[in-house]
Amino acid sequence: MSSLLLLFCVGVFVCVVLYNLIRNAINNSKLAWELEEIKELLKAMQPAQAPAPSTEPLVQPIVEGVDTYPCPVCGSAVPNHSKHCPSCGLELAD
Ligand SMILES: [Zn+2]
Repeated sequence: MSSLLLLFCVGVFVCVVLYNLIRNAINNSKLAWELEEIKELLKAMQPAQAPAPSTEPLVQPIVEGVDTYPCPVCGSAVPNHSKHCPSCGLELAD
């Protein structure tokens, strides 16, 4: 009989823990959703003339006399020994 009681107690404990975990998860997702809403609202409230962040990679000037070649993706000057484009991060073969 005592083992049944123990099982019951463990069951109740597990249920309470699961309930709290699920409730926390729901609260967190609702909070995240609300934060996303606020973010969208703030974005919409921003003045239209605010400069939009440029998505184009910064093209660095190609320096004459230095062993560089233009990156095939972004056109930036890449040193010959470099394995990555310093501007866009493209992996380059030797
Ligand atoms: Zn590049």
